[in-house]
Amino acid sequence: MTQALDLSRRRWLKGGLAPLKLANCLPWSVDWLDFTAGCTRCGDCLQACPEQIIVQGDGGYPTIRFSQGECSFCGSCVDSCGQDIFVDKQQPPWRQLASFGDACLARQGIYCRSCQDVCEAVAIQFKPRPGGISRPELVGDLCTGCGACVAPCPVQTIEILSQE
Ligand code: SF4
Ligand code: SF4
Ligand code: SF4
Repeated sequence: MTQALDLSRRRWLKGGLAPLKLANCLPWSVDWLDFTAGCTRCGDCLQACPEQIIVQGDGGYPTIRFSQGECSFCGSCVDSCGQDIFVDKQQPPWRQLASFGDACLARQGIYCRSCQDVCEAVAIQFKPRPGGISRPELVGDLCTGCGACVAPCPVQTIEILSQE
């Protein structure tokens, strides 16, 4: 059974969990330190990504920029890499989720469902709020962390946060 949740609040209530951080690692690259230790910064993955969401980030290392689009989990970045720095593609590509910020129009009382409209995983719910505008709630079990909801948000208030 899926369950709507406020990710930040749940983690805070549980305590003891690593803080969420902005997700920018390539799929199937589990550990940033391991990844950067092996990555030669050749740029092959940048060229291989059909969505063109991989850019050169800090230190020239490849980084995902969801403001440019979504990850389709095609695996081309992994296939293009000559280094042994990715886990098997049979494993989950990453553990990251969308998070909605306070600037969300719906949270400000303005109708907007742009994020829900683009989420193929149906991971964004708007529950009826008597007397108010419905707000987005994430169904964490369904969110793939693909980032498709990031760019269409008119106020750029969606972040993809890593659970690693
Ligand atoms: S899996 Fe495909 S779409 Fe996602 S970052 Fe790699 S090449 Fe780009
Ligand atoms: S697209 Fe952005 S502003 Fe619109 S409901 Fe979603 S998070 Fe809020
Ligand atoms: S990251 Fe992808 S799956 Fe998750 S809410 Fe956004 S569009 Fe939906």
